[in-house]
Amino acid sequence: MINRYGKSYLPVMKYKKGFLEENDILLKENDRVSKIYSLQPKRTQCKICGEKISSLCKKFIHHDIKYFICGKCGHVNGEFLETNDFSEEVYSESDYGLAYREAGKEEYNARVRDIYIPKAEFLFDCLKQGNDEDISALKFLDVGAGSGYFVNALNFLGGGVIAKGIEVSRSQVDYGNAMSENKIITQCDQGNIENIIVESDADVISFIGVLEHIINLHNVLQSINRNPNIRYIYFSVPLMSYSVVFEAMEEDVYNRLLGGSGAHTHLFSDDSIKYLCDMYDWSIVGQWKFGTDMADMLRMVMVKLGQKGQEELSLLFEENFKKIMDELQLVIDKNGLPSEIHVVAEKRR
Ligand SMILES: [Zn+2]
Repeated sequence: MINRYGKSYLPVMKYKKGFLEENDILLKENDRVSKIYSLQPKRTQCKICGEKISSLCKKFIHHDIKYFICGKCGHVNGEFLETNDFSEEVYSESDYGLAYREAGKEEYNARVRDIYIPKAEFLFDCLKQGNDEDISALKFLDVGAGSGYFVNALNFLGGGVIAKGIEVSRSQVDYGNAMSENKIITQCDQGNIENIIVESDADVISFIGVLEHIINLHNVLQSINRNPNIRYIYFSVPLMSYSVVFEAMEEDVYNRLLGGSGAHTHLFSDDSIKYLCDMYDWSIVGQWKFGTDMADMLRMVMVKLGQKGQEELSLLFEENFKKIMDELQLVIDKNGLPSEIHVVAEKRR
């Protein structure tokens, strides 16, 4: 099994500047999403293992929402259910893709190179190390492909069109296809995703930052097991992490990881990922942990100092902290609670 830790934050820092500069705008959007979420019915069972959520669970409050830590699988469950109404209201009004869209082809390709090529490399490493797979002979389907960054990374590294994607958002599909050599992404409706997965001829299916947004998660995962063509599953999910703890400290600093405009209403843990994989009879062939806890902390300190008119001190801190940020994060990735994990799993039979 491949265990990988850490990834330098500096090359991607320029893509995340908005989190600092637009703190107040993002917070306002968070309030809107939070209000919709708190109107949903209460959650009674753990999203992953189905264990009853009770007052006996460990719990915490984060930006006015209560979260329960499942006593059986360690999954962090928000107090309320995600519903179709919730996701419709959240995604239709906020242009979720906007933050990720870039102006021109050069910027698009830079994002593929800096953010998505390393993910494709990790996936290929896992496929080669385990069963010595011939990458060019495999087909890939990326679910929730957004603007197709990851699909393009797979095709670039794979040396041909080996990957395709499906995406709900029409505007992201149009933008992604306009930026790509081929029509690599197809628009699909939410209700059709399970059928597409069941009928896919792909060997490898991927969900980059997607599983946590799926309302009927178990139906979608079951559809993977109903398709014998699919042998590998690659997913990245947000984790219960130090970033979440930092976010809980200050209500007036944008919470990127839990709640809010990211619409994360639940978070994974090492144990809930393991539980999920066992439940579907998948074995984990590779894991890569690289959080942004230190980058989030840097941003939070800078926002708070900015609010106090301490811009010079804020810049001094940034300049110095950036030099040690990757090293500190690596300690967290290896031994602590980082904010993100990438997992490659293989069906056992
Ligand atoms: Zn559970």
